[in-house]
Amino acid sequence: MKSLTLKAPAKVNYLLDVIRRRPDGYHDLRMVMQRVNLCDEITIALTGTSQLSVSCGKDGVPDGPGNIAWKAARAMLDLSGSGMGVAISIVKNIPVAAGLGGGSSDAATVLMGMNELLELNLTDQRLMEIGVTLGADVPFFIFKKTALAEGIGEQLRAMPPLPAFWVLLVNPGVHVSTAWVYKNLRLTSREELARIPEFFRTTEDVCAMLSNDLESVTIPAFPVIADIKSAMMRMGAMGSMMSGSGPTVFGLFRDRESAEAAGSMLTGSTGWFSAVAETL
Ligand code: ATP
Repeated sequence: MKSLTLKAPAKVNYLLDVIRRRPDGYHDLRMVMQRVNLCDEITIALTGTSQLSVSCGKDGVPDGPGNIAWKAARAMLDLSGSGMGVAISIVKNIPVAAGLGGGSSDAATVLMGMNELLELNLTDQRLMEIGVTLGADVPFFIFKKTALAEGIGEQLRAMPPLPAFWVLLVNPGVHVSTAWVYKNLRLTSREELARIPEFFRTTEDVCAMLSNDLESVTIPAFPVIADIKSAMMRMGAMGSMMSGSGPTVFGLFRDRESAEAAGSMLTGSTGWFSAVAETL
């Protein structure tokens, strides 16, 4: 039986503006989203039976129907109408509930992988339409380019080419609920949204754009996030910011060695998650 093994990358938010609360409970956002090569590994195998299984074996991530990858696979099997089944296994390298979009990326990868395995020939546009019903960040991972994302995150435009970075990711492991963050966010007046440059010539141009409205909620509650940001800057990062609703902090570095050195100095014996990745 056919099978595929694919990588599902994480993302960081270079920019995250919360524009307004919508009547449906979602928020209109403006984000610059960048993929990084810290990846989950997903194996999708067609099976002779009509059964669907997802196994992950990671604390905090459900196996089976609770897993967003399962929902993605269900949608594709229903569309195919072939009566086939798949067995999916996920090696989870991206920290969970960390602001790195791991679940959304897994779902996007399953949609793309099953499109190929089942020879459905759906366009990326169609996959993105299915993806947004699973999660607001799913379409971005099908888009596969650094993006300006608007609406709830599903309206995507390619950003102009950006300089590459080595990215240090540090997650102090505090529990941050995304729903709690949005509930406690006081929306600032958005008459004057910061302008996003049309061209990025230097790494400094990217660092000047770094901003995340959600830090105004998470940092007072979890000052460790601000501590990690300032430590990264002291250790040579060109810029540093919390990703998504946190708690992961990323730092942008010119080279791998300095990112790795900062990672080991910063995490020491804390037991925090730390990884160095490249922008994609
Ligand atoms: P975002 O940056 O989009 O807010 P996140 O990093 O905060 O994402 P995820 O790691 O995607 O959050 O997981 C959020 C929740 O989704 C977790 O509580 C987890 O139990 C559930 N979940 C379901 N499927 C998955 C999956 N494949 N990977 C990770 N989490 C999953």
